[in-house]
Amino acid sequence: MTRCIAVCSIGSVDKGILEHIAKQISTRCGLICEIYPEMERPEYAYNVTRCQYDSRPILKRLIQYCKDDTKLLGVTQVDLYVPILKYIFGLAQVGGGCSLISLHRLCPEFYDQPSDPALLLERAEKTAMHELGHALGLTHCRELHCVMYSSTSIENTDFKNPDFCPTCFELFKWYLEI
Ligand SMILES: [Zn+2]
Ligand SMILES: [Zn+2]
Repeated sequence: MTRCIAVCSIGSVDKGILEHIAKQISTRCGLICEIYPEMERPEYAYNVTRCQYDSRPILKRLIQYCKDDTKLLGVTQVDLYVPILKYIFGLAQVGGGCSLISLHRLCPEFYDQPSDPALLLERAEKTAMHELGHALGLTHCRELHCVMYSSTSIENTDFKNPDFCPTCFELFKWYLEI
């Protein structure tokens, strides 16, 4: 049974964004979502050729940092990748305790759009719920509006809801209890 959910910033992250994510998680899960102390900026994961950060060693550190019955979501500002993809919005240990999201490509400024704090919060919330869903054991959903729909572009993220479809929601509640 999941007793506690926590978020922590990896390198510096806007406090308001972290608090928003924690609040949304706790509302949906009916559990307290704590904010853990900030972890160091992940220079150990920097790839000079790609000018991006390898998400895998970062997730590994989160796993080491995480206590047994806690689901821990790391939030970072750095641009993440996995070797087979150009970039990722987030990564999770499916059915494990930990997940990770990047705000880098969620910022409208990344797409040469004007700054929009409300849009950034909405995208961060959707990405966080998606990765937390994976960490609990959920896989991708074909329903375009479901938060478990796989986002391969920011348009996918903007199109979907911050909530689970009825089927995913049932599974989500079930996974939270086991
Ligand atoms: Zn996914
Ligand atoms: Zn779904």
